[in-house]
Amino acid sequence: MARYRDAVCKLCRREGSKLFLKGDHCLTQKCALERKAYIPGEQAHRRTRRLSQYALQLREKQKIKRIYGLLEKQFRNCFQEAVREKGITSENFLRLLECRLDNGVYRLGFAASRRAARQLIRHRHFLVNDKIVDIPSYELSPGDIVKVREKSKQLEIIANSLKKSGRGRELPWLSVDKANLSGTLLSLPTREEIPVAVDERLVVELYSK
Ligand code: SF4
Repeated sequence: MARYRDAVCKLCRREGSKLFLKGDHCLTQKCALERKAYIPGEQAHRRTRRLSQYALQLREKQKIKRIYGLLEKQFRNCFQEAVREKGITSENFLRLLECRLDNGVYRLGFAASRRAARQLIRHRHFLVNDKIVDIPSYELSPGDIVKVREKSKQLEIIANSLKKSGRGRELPWLSVDKANLSGTLLSLPTREEIPVAVDERLVVELYSK
């Protein structure tokens, strides 16, 4: 399956904001954005330009895509699904992204980043409602229980992530049982409950053209 393989810090530098793609590393002084707060490569000169509305929409789309680690086609498919659902498209869209299994595993604290969560899921370390699910884009529904597989409970990477993480506890739509390495999606998150500083309405504007 296709995936982004270049240095992820470049993505933050390109967007000019921290996207928290490398877990705890992002909270340290080693964060590339702290050290090199300018756009990488040939596009550096564009920073001083005033962005058009289209450019703003495009940048916001790229930012959301990069935060959730999606490729263009996956991103567009998710958006189309949001359009088909009842309600406000921008909110549906963000909710669909938040309910992906890789995001759930990250939010519950079982992985330090969404990227790490995807890898763990592909390696079949998680159960959803007692069945192995190795598809990172799997959509969680309210009541779904995500568990670390019995044989994977000793994995240091999961234990370390849980130790350092306060994720999950602070989100009203998730509950975490650290002792049993499991978590539940209590309800679908509302926009106010999703701690991502983006303007998803710009994506709707972009795709409406
Ligand atoms: Fe972005 Fe994290 Fe890299 Fe900093 S360390 S630039 S927040 S991915």
